[in-house]
Amino acid sequence: MSLSKVGLVGWRGMVGSVLLERMQREGDLNGLSCDFFSTSQVGQPGPALGGGGALKDAFDLEALAANQAIITCQGGDYTSQVLPALRSAGWDGYWIDAASTKRMDEDSVIVLDPVNRPVIERAIASGIKNFIGGNCTVSLMLMAICGLYQRGWVEWVSSMTYQAASGAGAAHMRELVLQMQQIGAAGAGLAEDPASAILELDRQVSATLSADDFRKEKFGAALAGSLIPWIDRDMPDGATREEWKGHAESNKILDNDPPIPVDGLCVRVGAMRCHSQALTIKLTRPISLSEVESVIQEGNNWVDVVPNNRDATLAKLSPQAVNGSLRVPIGRIRKLKMGPEYLAAFTVGDQLLWGAAEPLRRALTLLRERV
Ligand code: NAP
Repeated sequence: MSLSKVGLVGWRGMVGSVLLERMQREGDLNGLSCDFFSTSQVGQPGPALGGGGALKDAFDLEALAANQAIITCQGGDYTSQVLPALRSAGWDGYWIDAASTKRMDEDSVIVLDPVNRPVIERAIASGIKNFIGGNCTVSLMLMAICGLYQRGWVEWVSSMTYQAASGAGAAHMRELVLQMQQIGAAGAGLAEDPASAILELDRQVSATLSADDFRKEKFGAALAGSLIPWIDRDMPDGATREEWKGHAESNKILDNDPPIPVDGLCVRVGAMRCHSQALTIKLTRPISLSEVESVIQEGNNWVDVVPNNRDATLAKLSPQAVNGSLRVPIGRIRKLKMGPEYLAAFTVGDQLLWGAAEPLRRALTLLRERV
């Protein structure tokens, strides 16, 4: 069978837009016939790509089942509602999904091929049909330090994250900018005037952040000028679900047995795009920094070790520096006072690329080569 008929759902959201852009740039649409679906704009013109016509109904099982593969970036509720119904109706195609719903299921593989290509190849050979993108921070962490994992040098990892507004979707990005506008308006006049009283500026901004009309419908709190140390829903052990994913997903992606502990706190910050994380890594034994750096660098073709100095850090190790790039810089690498096995590092990556869209488009490419 050659895989040439693909349905795309969720293509106009944050992840879907980036995915479509990447597929066009890499020529993935050549030889593909595409149907574009929507949950809200059925019948309207779709993208003039892959021979797709008007937008089809994303809940029309028959229209979906006409495709050999479906790529969805629509979200978990959509997956929960549609995939079981499609499978019950006998659809046996490939489901490629950005949402977390199916990630931990036995009949799914989490795709991040620069890190777990053998796991994906085994899944294809064994007839697995669900190919799911990993959590964005987990995928970016593994892209950054897979070299250490490959050597068996990781005893545990603690990841403290600084996650961008776009991680929550298109509408949340807009809300962050609206919050920034409100703060800008409140500080206007005072911020430009170096002679104005700084405490007055502070009071104006603080009053704006806590005012009833401050825009926070999506985040539930101020993100601009503040931060939110809670992402996703709570779990029974005091962790958030975002934090829970670090251990669960990294071990499934790497097919680790026994599992290697990964834990930490996940924090939303006022960056627009790109997730950052501060890592504390306990190595299995003391290893020199130069060895650690060269093994990290050899991990894959996208990771970049950034020298641990101010100029390189400011130039290369920030959300702004990696926005729109597939590079995954990792810097601030140094030994901690806790002992020679304890390593600190800071890494940033575009969560919409390696953290979401890129593994999905590469999964489709791999399937087209294999089936
Ligand atoms: P999103 O931006 O909120 O888009 C999801 C859907 O919302 C769109 O497909 C669209 O569907 C609808 N929508 C309604 N109003 C819209 C508007 N004004 N602009 C664009 N779309 C609008 O969600 P997302 O961030 O892409 O996330 C999709 C899935 O990927 C989720 O399961 C998420 O957990 C996962 N994920 C996200 C990220 C990330 O960094 N954002 C990373 C990894 C995984 P219709 O066309 O049908 O209306």
